Amino acid sequence: MRARKRWTVLRDGAGEALDDFLQQANGQPFCDGCLAVELRVDRLDVQHALDGKGASVDRGHGRCSVCGQTLTVTRTPAP
Ligand SMILES: [Zn+2]
Repeated sequence: MRARKRWTVLRDGAGEALDDFLQQANGQPFCDGCLAVELRVDRLDVQHALDGKGASVDRGHGRCSVCGQTLTVTRTPAP
C-alpha cells in the first residue's frame, strides 16, 4: 500500500523529532495538535510515532502547556 509506506517514513522521522523535542521541553505537556505545530508537520500520529520508543514518554489526560486545553497530552516523565 503506497499511502502506508509513505506514512511509515514520516512516522519514523517524526518519532525521532518528537523524542528530541520532548526531552528538551523538560517534562512540559503538549497536546497532539501543538506537537504537530512544533515539529512542523501537517499531521502527527503521536501514538504511532512513539511505537518502539519504549517507555520514555507519558501519554495521558492533562493540560497542554502551549494552548492550555485539557486533553490527551504527551510529556517526558518526571525523573
Ligand atoms: Zn496544545
